[in-house]
Amino acid sequence: MIYLDHQATTPLAPEARAAMERWLGGADSTSFGNPHSPHRLGRQAEAAVELARERVVALFPAGGRVIFTGSATEALNLALRGCEPGRSGAGVAISGIEHAAVEETARALPGSLTVLPVDADGLVDAEADWPHDVGLVSVMQVNNEIGTIQPAARLYERAQAAGALFVCDAVQAAGRLPIAAADMIAISAHKFYGPKGIGALWVRDGVELQPLITGGGQEGGLRSGTLSPALCAGMGAAAELALARMEEDALHMDRLFARALELFAGWQLNGSGEHRIRSNLNLRRTGLDVARLMSEVRTVAFSAGSACASDSGKPSRVLAAIGLSAAEAKGSIRLGLGRYTTEAELEDAAALLNPAAAAQG
Ligand code: PLP
Repeated sequence: MIYLDHQATTPLAPEARAAMERWLGGADSTSFGNPHSPHRLGRQAEAAVELARERVVALFPAGGRVIFTGSATEALNLALRGCEPGRSGAGVAISGIEHAAVEETARALPGSLTVLPVDADGLVDAEADWPHDVGLVSVMQVNNEIGTIQPAARLYERAQAAGALFVCDAVQAAGRLPIAAADMIAISAHKFYGPKGIGALWVRDGVELQPLITGGGQEGGLRSGTLSPALCAGMGAAAELALARMEEDALHMDRLFARALELFAGWQLNGSGEHRIRSNLNLRRTGLDVARLMSEVRTVAFSAGSACASDSGKPSRVLAAIGLSAAEAKGSIRLGLGRYTTEAELEDAAALLNPAAAAQG
């Protein structure tokens, strides 16, 4: 199987797996303690969690703290529903290409919703007006379907000037790019070679939140429930590794991306060719039936639009927002390249996908 779906999830890095193993905590070990228990076993587990937290904090700008959550979806819910403007009915502004974790949550808030426009390149208009009552702005750093890098720095500047809080969904940026400045930032371990089932919300010092989950008061009272030291350790190791390898990984992506453009020369790239991460190629071909292509090429794992939405059968909101027709969106595939993808795998994938697509006419 050739895995080209790294925006959906990434394999666990061997280093992350090794960091997790000790904390899986078999009955024959002393590493199964509850990190919130006061005895020695608990303290050891707590130390593993805090070491992991330091490693995750290092991904972010200075001046904030990390709250571990079960996913980025949970982190985004905590940010949007837990902050004062989100709770009090202030206006909310998001882009037209946010992940459902932001879009659905923003729609559920009591305040009115403004959707900021996106251009044909897949870039949010950083100068678009928003109403005076907007107290909360949420825009992603990198889009999960088309890989475009959003003008998050400018939007944060404007939010600050307007007295609004700025939330950034950095799920697709974390571990690949320096994370953009914001008031709150959500990430997910499984998108940067860490384990599934753990995410984090970074909160700038001074930003007040109310919990969504109440109970034992863990995570500073903001997210009750016993943490998994194994998941935390895996996320911490993955963060440390991603930071250490950021340049090397980016160079690898540059090389793979350039090769992919040669191999898929008969396809058109969706979204900006310039303002994008190189690990994403969202490609289209006139008249292509992606469902048929997927059933014919079963040995390549790729996605039709967003993996999160591809089961729904609905056309992609993101591809519609950049002005593609329903037919163009239906003829689009997403290839997601990763740290462990080789050029040979890409060549083999092209040798399978290109003739199958061409045979459709
Ligand atoms: N935001 C973006 C941009 C994503 O790509 C995803 C996952 O696909 C999420 C949020 C949700 O992340 P999680 O799977 O950790 O809930």
